[in-house]
Amino acid sequence: MSKVSGLPRQPFAQDAALVGSRFKVYTERQFDQISALRSLPREQRFAMRVVANVLPFRVNQYVIDQLIDWERVPDDPMFQLTFPQPGMLAPEHFDQMADLLAGGADRETVRLLAREIQAELNPHPAGQQVLNVPRLNGLTLEGMQHKYRETVLFFPSQGQTCHSYCTFCFRWAQFVGDKSLRFSAKEADRLHAYLQAHTEVSDLLVTGGDPMVMKTQHLVDYLEPLLRPDLAHVHNVRIGTKSLTFWPQRYVTDADADDLLRLLERLVKGGKHVALMAHFNHWRELDTEICRTAIRRIRDTGAVIRTQAPLLAHINDDASIWARMWRMQVCVGMVPYYMFVERDTGARRYFEVPLARAWAIYREAMQQVSGLARTARGPSMSAGPGKVEIQGVTEIGGERVFVLRFLQGRNPDWVQRPFFARYDEQATWLDQLQPANGESHFFFEPEYKEACRKGDGLRHTWQVS
Ligand SMILES: *Cc1c(COP(=O)(O)O)cnc(C)c1O
Repeated sequence: MSKVSGLPRQPFAQDAALVGSRFKVYTERQFDQISALRSLPREQRFAMRVVANVLPFRVNQYVIDQLIDWERVPDDPMFQLTFPQPGMLAPEHFDQMADLLAGGADRETVRLLAREIQAELNPHPAGQQVLNVPRLNGLTLEGMQHKYRETVLFFPSQGQTCHSYCTFCFRWAQFVGDKSLRFSAKEADRLHAYLQAHTEVSDLLVTGGDPMVMKTQHLVDYLEPLLRPDLAHVHNVRIGTKSLTFWPQRYVTDADADDLLRLLERLVKGGKHVALMAHFNHWRELDTEICRTAIRRIRDTGAVIRTQAPLLAHINDDASIWARMWRMQVCVGMVPYYMFVERDTGARRYFEVPLARAWAIYREAMQQVSGLARTARGPSMSAGPGKVEIQGVTEIGGERVFVLRFLQGRNPDWVQRPFFARYDEQATWLDQLQPANGESHFFFEPEYKEACRKGDGLRHTWQVS
């Protein structure tokens, strides 16, 4: 299939021309079967295997054939997005794993070292596992998070994988053997019971992994009941997904693609705002005909596609990439939503960009686009206390400062309150920032620390157990 360059070409390819794409996936055990890799130096292939034994690796044929520009490997951003790179591990970790593999160690030995290294990579950032798990009638609801008052996150067990894995994924830990986000067969009932009991919840955000790896029938079971009168307060249904990048066939040629679109349409007709929260890191991801076809088919259902992504060294740390991506997204009817800061987990050492530089890139990209693309907020850190946006750099009383605000807060009262941190050119995360003006702490810290100490999250009036 030929690529569409820059802007959409009309008319789109007939769907019939796209039939026949079959999903084929490779993990670290099938490295040798990826023919595109055979032209790479032996050493480079070995280095990728070393990293893939610690961090998750999974890539499919569509990504290999249609997204990666093999002439530009290893610098190609789509290659960096999916294939492990030596710099993703600390040198000492890399060497330890390389020695084991080169010495022909058995699987169990390799697995044990992998576990050790993984434990040092902050596998559960922002206290996700402890602080945000909701309860119903005294039971904790595994597979759900309720951090911000109006939005419940739901992780359906059938959707805890992806069509390919991103090398920088902040949920990487669950793909390397941590099954603690799995839950029981009655999960749909529990989800609906929880939502029914929480009329303050206006948004359900189905996430993963990628919910779009599920068969449509599962999505029907989870989402169709939202049309019931007792769940009418759940106005907005969001689905977080990378499938428009990794497997747009999901909406075009998969056997249950049409059923999926009909489900979205029923939700829209039933009065819901349906939003696909699409993860796009680079404009190249939306530059294939089948992706454009998928976008058009989704929009035809009345669903909205909003886009979000982290800012990453080696992939998109360049204002012109973001500006071009946002312009193309607006052009095909998608709405830019968030620019994130790479989280403090996994391969962050390889991808992280200092906050000062992240803000400069955001600002420069914003300046290159019209107001229609300026809907993207950020750069935003999804940290323990909430989503903190870097609004800018300025001077107050002779001190250089970051201007910050909560876009979302564990306590809703924190939202949209400006606060200041001492400017720091190197800092890459909230916990590296110091309050400005000689103050001893940020305004939210006493309350947040108390919640962490108690270990069961902030018990707001809206979080009755
Ligand atoms: C980002 C996020 C949401 C959604 O926040 P919005 O600002 O409404 O998009 C909900 N829950 C969690 C845990 C989040 O990180």
